[in-house]
Amino acid sequence: MTTRRGRKKIFQCFMAMMTIGAMLLILSCATVPLTGRKELQLVPESQLLSMSFDQYSALLKKSKLSNDPEKVAMVREVGKGIARASEEVMRDYGRASEIKNYRWAFNLIDDDKTVNAFCMPGGKVGVYTGILPVAQDENGLAVVMGHEVAHAIAKHGNERMSQGLLAQFGGVALSVALSSHPGITSDLFMQAYGLGANVGVLLPYSRVQESEADRIGLILMAKAGYDPREAIPFWQRMNKKGGGRPPEFLSTHPAPETRIKQLQALIPEAMRYYKGR
Ligand SMILES: [Zn+2]
Repeated sequence: MTTRRGRKKIFQCFMAMMTIGAMLLILSCATVPLTGRKELQLVPESQLLSMSFDQYSALLKKSKLSNDPEKVAMVREVGKGIARASEEVMRDYGRASEIKNYRWAFNLIDDDKTVNAFCMPGGKVGVYTGILPVAQDENGLAVVMGHEVAHAIAKHGNERMSQGLLAQFGGVALSVALSSHPGITSDLFMQAYGLGANVGVLLPYSRVQESEADRIGLILMAKAGYDPREAIPFWQRMNKKGGGRPPEFLSTHPAPETRIKQLQALIPEAMRYYKGR
């Protein structure tokens, strides 16, 4: 039987949880660089990065890395340029500290059937050899890597995991759930990055996140010295490649015609950052 004092205690406890839950949600809103959209960021950055770094090494161990020195060098060079551009952009907006713990890595995975690329939290990039014929050259590769790195600096992974946490526990129970089940966030990380069954294959980003990554990606490639106008023919090649069943890199993205139109509208903004190489 619950005494009056017991009920009071439960009520106080409930109110405390409500307050913590509400505070957590207020404190956990971040703003996406360049677009200014508010996004939910519930997973502590340090936790996310350590999970990401572990999973990235595990993935590389399981994968066959390309031993084509020219292609590997191209991936590294374009990647470093995009990473530098990201750091400059973040610095220009007074947000350098947000990516100061990034440990950039760019690896080419030997898998001609996978037309895909990814960037895990903290700047861990994987490019599959299958996307190289579509990229054709450095410029095409810069479209791909600009887009993937944009997902990372916009912290879309944390947002997806946060949405998953909220859906599973709701705002109130979240702080309790996080402290009492430490495995939850790593489970969600595996789900968000599809690392359970399909290694390295991302679950779909939302349409908003995709458009955002396109916009930021164009700016990053332009700042790194790659012509952002090349994004249009790249996506046209990607669409052709689609055929009946679109490749993974494409299947998670907006409808082809919509995307080309959106990209065309974004080119003038990106051109302001383009000074050539
Ligand atoms: Zn994307």
